[in-house]
Amino acid sequence: MEQIEAVVIGAGVVGLAVGRALALSGREVLVLESENAIGTGTSSRNSEVIHAGIYYPAGSFKARLCVQGKGQLYAYCAERGLAHQRLGKLIVATSPKQVLALDGIMAKAAANGVHDLQKLSASEARALEPALSCEAALLSPSTGVVDSHGLMLALQGDMENAGGLLALVSPVQHIGVRQGTATHPIRVTTQDGTELACKVLVNAAGLNAVALARGMDGLDHSMLPQAHYAKGNYFTLAGRAPFSRLIYPVPEAAGLGVHLTLDLGGQAKFGPDVQWADDPADLQVDPRRGDAFYAEVRKYWPALQDGALQPGYAGMRPKINAPHEAAADFMIQGPTEHGVPGLVNLLGIESPGLTSSLAIADEVCARLL
Ligand SMILES: Cc1cc2nc3c(=O)[nH]c(=O)nc-3n(C[C@H](O)[C@H](O)[C@H](O)COP(=O)(O)OP(=O)(O)OC[C@H]3O[C@@H](n4cnc5c(N)ncnc54)[C@H](O)[C@@H]3O)c2cc1C
Repeated sequence: MEQIEAVVIGAGVVGLAVGRALALSGREVLVLESENAIGTGTSSRNSEVIHAGIYYPAGSFKARLCVQGKGQLYAYCAERGLAHQRLGKLIVATSPKQVLALDGIMAKAAANGVHDLQKLSASEARALEPALSCEAALLSPSTGVVDSHGLMLALQGDMENAGGLLALVSPVQHIGVRQGTATHPIRVTTQDGTELACKVLVNAAGLNAVALARGMDGLDHSMLPQAHYAKGNYFTLAGRAPFSRLIYPVPEAAGLGVHLTLDLGGQAKFGPDVQWADDPADLQVDPRRGDAFYAEVRKYWPALQDGALQPGYAGMRPKINAPHEAAADFMIQGPTEHGVPGLVNLLGIESPGLTSSLAIADEVCARLL
């Protein structure tokens, strides 16, 4: 059996960030990815938004790692010349009830260390975005967008420059946490039968992470959550974007409401919505779901024309709460939680996982010390 110090499962943005951090800390690292390219999972099917860290419960991983990761990500983009834009976002209230909710959102943001939100009247918001209809708004200047693929290539490059290796088309099939060697106790078996013994194993397999953890021999499975999936469908807008900032309604149900985001080319898209799913591989966008978008979008952009929205793409959220349960936090289970030295399971890494990726990597390294 080959021995290697650290194995990371999954070459999405989180696995690559973890691989980079481990390699930079001087460890020998191998990232195993089942597909034939990096970032083909959720990391390439999201909004590419650098979130400010506004909505998450105070003290949660999502709150802490988003705010920390946002700062790290902007700094990394600047250092590496990665395409990104600090566009800013408006959270728009379109009813008196939603206007009242804005103060609560500001307080929540402040509790998370986000102190730059500005409250705007309707006319102040319209001065920034003339096409907008609202009763009041919050401006979040630190929200932005990033080229997620460029980010992943940079992470991979850093990892490889520090001696880390990436193996594509290498699906991990089985893990035995006490079945390796005396010095490298974790055994990882890939689909082609290759066996590796490692001291450190980080499960960053995204939608597959819970299933992989459940299949680990020697791990207490009672602390593992159930996997659930929630598809997010996007609809793109033909023609010129009506706004130059991201526009989000005040959130009322699961998800952040039908919001408008812009890519780095200025193309506007609406979504993602929330469609609970049984099959994580089902990424088809049902064009009929667009019907519900029109009424929601017209609350803040009345000029939306019939037929202007086209089915775009979909991403799948790796949920660890059922539809009727409150949104779960990221679940980061290291040796302190499960008692297995060297093992970290990253479960339920949904949004803001892209924003938080560098901070999650630091958190993983801290848990392995
Ligand atoms: C619709 C949507 C919108 C989002 N928008 C945002 C946003 O705007 N901003 C933000 O911060 N976050 C956003 N997110 C969240 C963000 O995209 C994810 O948190 C992040 O991409 C997760 O990265 P990951 O590396 O954990 O997972 P993934 O990108 O899914 O990577 C996991 C990798 O593991 C591989 N893998 C799986 N099983 C195995 C195996 N057995 N062996 C080897 N490899 C395996 C997969 O092939 C995959 O490449 C969004 C998510 C969704 C669904």
